[in-house]
Amino acid sequence: MAELSKEAIFNVLSCVEDPEIPVLNIVEMGIVRDVLVAGNDICITITPTYSGCPAMKVIEDQVIEVMRNKGYQDVTLQTVLSPAWTTDWMTDEAKEKLTKYGIAAPGKAPKSSDLVMLSSKHENTKCPFCKSSNTKETSEFGSTPCKSLYYCNACNQPFEYFKPF
Ligand SMILES: [Zn+2]
Repeated sequence: MAELSKEAIFNVLSCVEDPEIPVLNIVEMGIVRDVLVAGNDICITITPTYSGCPAMKVIEDQVIEVMRNKGYQDVTLQTVLSPAWTTDWMTDEAKEKLTKYGIAAPGKAPKSSDLVMLSSKHENTKCPFCKSSNTKETSEFGSTPCKSLYYCNACNQPFEYFKPF
């Protein structure tokens, strides 16, 4: 019988990688919102990182699969869209791993009142390789819409920036 504690279930969920950033799992990303245990029934609440993210279906399937493999049968997945996920939900550890992976971690997410000034304000983005701030945005969209492409003038390497939102 699998252990029915919140902690045990969070540990199991830590085995599910984020499909777009394989160094991070869905708990570190802050995608797993809550786990409720009632008798043998488990309800897992998740929030997509951004709407229309095609990876979300993959994550849902993997959650069910990994839970079944660990002996949890009665699992309900609930997707909650509000409040929307923001990059602030990523743990500090997750941001550190992201940087080591070569993607500049997001800064503090903008408040909605700051959104207007957001678009061109990325000049403090630090290079994940050499930590230089001498970087420039080369494209607003990287391999996925949540990242933009940067170029480091100090070490002459391109890198991706996980945009805060
Ligand atoms: Zn650099």
